[in-house]
Amino acid sequence: MQAFRDEVRAWLETACPVSMRTPAKESEDVWGGRKPWFPSEDARLWMQRAAERGFTAPTWPRAYGGAGLSRDQARVLAEEMKRLGCRTPLKSFGIWMLGPVLLEYGSEAQKLQFLPGIARGETRWCQGYSEPGAGSDLASLATRALRDGDGPTASYVVSGQKIWTSHADKADWMFCLVRTGAEQPKHEGISFLLIDMQSPGISVRPIELISGASPFCETFLDEVRVPVAQRIGPEGGGWTIAKKLLEHERAAISQLRDSASSEEEPLETLAKRYLGTGADGALADPALRDRITQANMDFLCNQLTLRRSAAAAQSGRGPGGEALMLKLYATELNKRRRELKVVIEGFQGLGWDGDGFSAEELRHTREWLRSRANSIEGGSSEIQLNIIAKRVLGLPD
Ligand SMILES: Cc1cc2nc3c(=O)[nH]c(=O)nc-3n(C[C@H](O)[C@H](O)[C@H](O)COP(=O)(O)OP(=O)(O)OC[C@H]3O[C@@H](n4cnc5c(N)ncnc54)[C@H](O)[C@@H]3O)c2cc1C
Repeated sequence: MQAFRDEVRAWLETACPVSMRTPAKESEDVWGGRKPWFPSEDARLWMQRAAERGFTAPTWPRAYGGAGLSRDQARVLAEEMKRLGCRTPLKSFGIWMLGPVLLEYGSEAQKLQFLPGIARGETRWCQGYSEPGAGSDLASLATRALRDGDGPTASYVVSGQKIWTSHADKADWMFCLVRTGAEQPKHEGISFLLIDMQSPGISVRPIELISGASPFCETFLDEVRVPVAQRIGPEGGGWTIAKKLLEHERAAISQLRDSASSEEEPLETLAKRYLGTGADGALADPALRDRITQANMDFLCNQLTLRRSAAAAQSGRGPGGEALMLKLYATELNKRRRELKVVIEGFQGLGWDGDGFSAEELRHTREWLRSRANSIEGGSSEIQLNIIAKRVLGLPD
């Protein structure tokens, strides 16, 4: 493994531009797509080089655009990228969510059609799960898909409305849950379709959020034709795939929150800057000191649990009960850390815009507001608690 580490380290030293070794602001994220946007030429180069090497999707097989790395090798790559401070070259729902289920449930033709484009950052995806009447109770979804014709030219005609579709206005494709069997029990009448967002009949309307940013959209489907060949898994078998995708989504949310927190200025440093210290060099306010210490200890515990979960997965034991609590814990912890920053900054932490606030303070306010959504997206905390109660603790429904 040392030889692999040396090889990766040497490659990163030459391939990752120096400007890509600094923490990225959210506004500088690279998402790829048919019409990609890059904050700089270095960002474009970094994504292209990483994609050529298969490092945007390290564990995917080479035939599908990955690097064919083992889990151990992927961990070494992640460690070396972290050591150098490399930015994630490509952010992608395709890599975090769709790719893993395509690898598991897609046909060979589907894998070859979609995975390489995802790994190269050529297609950007959005998630068409939630509907106005189906959020936590996702299986109640009503977007219907009626089959038209037989054989290779058969298609579904899809009509309905999706909501909270993050980045739908920028996405090229949507992985989407639809109802193909109106007569069947609700979990059995769902299918998993891949829909080209340029298909006639699709319209998208952005939704503005409390944090000011608006990646969220309503997506309307009006008799959209989708080839049957773009269905993943059997007709009516979409619920199993949907649930598996949610596991990948929740794991990605937990890891993102964890790595974002480890890049930040420590809470105690921020507090000392704003509130000063006593004669002993410690924060003067004991109650705040206690909250910060508790948050730091909880953060470290969460990191240890993440590692325990990764080690279990690497040893082939599969995710255990701890994996089910990671999303809940990481997102609740992130909310607490964001709130503590605003508390530390006092009135300065409550600015929206204007000269009276530094750019950092304005960012903290918006990040605090954005964090409120963490415990809703990907399944709310209450739903995570229900899952833990049922699947880990074995409690009755
Ligand atoms: C930032 C963000 C991004 C999102 N991105 C996407 C996306 O890209 N694609 C997509 O399809 N969806 C997306 N969503 C939607 C998200 O999946 C839903 O908001 C979530 O599943 C909750 O559904 P809901 O909003 O309809 O709330 P509801 O299901 O109406 O829940 C309302 C409240 O009731 C509680 N509740 C509901 N049922 C139970 C129960 N059985 N037991 C206990 N409490 C319960 C919930 O915890 C919640 O507090 C996003 C949401 C957010 C906030």
